[in-house]
Amino acid sequence: MVARFPFEHALPEAAQPAVKIARTLVEAGHEALLAGGCVRDLLLGGVPDDYDVATAARPEQVARLFRRTRLVGAAFAVVLVKMGGRWVEVASFREDGPYLDGRHPVSVTYCDAHRDAGRRDFTVNGMFLDPLRSEVVDYVGGMADLERRLIRAIGQPAERFEEDHLRLLRAVRFAARLSFDIEPGTLAAIREQAPRLARVAAERVRDELERMLSHPTRLAAWRLLGDCGLRPFLWGGAGWSAAEVDRIDRTLARLADDAGFELVLAVLLAERGAGEVERVCRALTCSNDQREVVRWLVSHQADLDQPDEPSLAALKRLLAGPAFGALRDWAGARWAEFADARERAACLDARLAAIPPERVCPPPLVTGDDLIARGVPAGPRYKEILDALYTRQLDEELADRDAALAALDALLASAGGRP
Ligand code: ATP
Ligand code: MG
Repeated sequence: MVARFPFEHALPEAAQPAVKIARTLVEAGHEALLAGGCVRDLLLGGVPDDYDVATAARPEQVARLFRRTRLVGAAFAVVLVKMGGRWVEVASFREDGPYLDGRHPVSVTYCDAHRDAGRRDFTVNGMFLDPLRSEVVDYVGGMADLERRLIRAIGQPAERFEEDHLRLLRAVRFAARLSFDIEPGTLAAIREQAPRLARVAAERVRDELERMLSHPTRLAAWRLLGDCGLRPFLWGGAGWSAAEVDRIDRTLARLADDAGFELVLAVLLAERGAGEVERVCRALTCSNDQREVVRWLVSHQADLDQPDEPSLAALKRLLAGPAFGALRDWAGARWAEFADARERAACLDARLAAIPPERVCPPPLVTGDDLIARGVPAGPRYKEILDALYTRQLDEELADRDAALAALDALLASAGGRP
């Protein structure tokens, strides 16, 4: 049964390329509608990230109607159309064949809008908007679930999660982001099938986690992962004690809205050793940069707890690290546990304000060449000597190169002539 509702709002300017594409398709005789997430977000009064078009036209018909198009996997029946300076996804109405691997349908068949709605994941994601008639086209009861603020699988929940296990995480992401509940039948199916999350390709899991945990509603997402029994299956060996969960909850509640995924992952791994942090990041197929940041954050997490303690050199080394802003945010969340949180923040800010940017990681005054010139043989002492001198330079104890070379000579002399 289709329900049609008037859509009373004017569409935002950003929707115009998609609307124009829909108009062209309709004028050529093909049904064309805005589909999925953008309809949901518009009905909630939000700002969609992008506008997707769904149409009865086949990909090759779509491609013929527009000047600039790209076929992105004919198998998925999607054509990208360049319009108004942006690429718009135009998907042909399709039904998925059986899923044999919990991820890819073995085939797709072209169909009408009704059946296309039926292969989508959740009712609130399964609606269309006819931009020319200003009507919402709802075959799946999405409007009613928007009213009730519910994430509900379209069709039989158990079957839908069996087809594509990633939907287990998508349910959590949408429930957290929209502050919706998960409908009881859908929730029961998620709990039952939670272990299947372990079979989802790591990069898909990471991508979903990244989206849900970098959003301001990350605490709700983290809690829902717990309620749904999904946490143990996020990566091999995932698990948290009750005390850890309590600390994580409190920290997540205090992070700034714009905290990045790396920081949140570091918070989740805060009590793990460096080897375990490395292993989890690799298991999740994090990029090298992400891995470095997570590792760095975990290993330096407590360094700003007493902001008057680190030496000037230590503070500069943190500043020059890969994610000082995130470390500072984490420290802010940790300080909130203490009565003197404000004083700690003020102390750190004052110390940072006193460091001119060019003094954070200046070129070293003494280099390996100076050691060679003094006949110091290459070896582990090399690095020790250079590190010690660089620390004194960062501590502003060595005003210039002459002072640094004098310090080097003093160091070599005090080593008892032992170069
Ligand atoms: P977001 O704002 O996060 O992009 P979205 O609803 O647009 O949310 P997408 O992942 O961009 O989500 O997918 C677009 C639409 O495609 C969804 O609204 C849904 O209808 C459908 N869809 C996407 N992934 C799946 C899936 N794994 N199973 C079923 N339908 C899906
Ligand atoms: Mg989308």
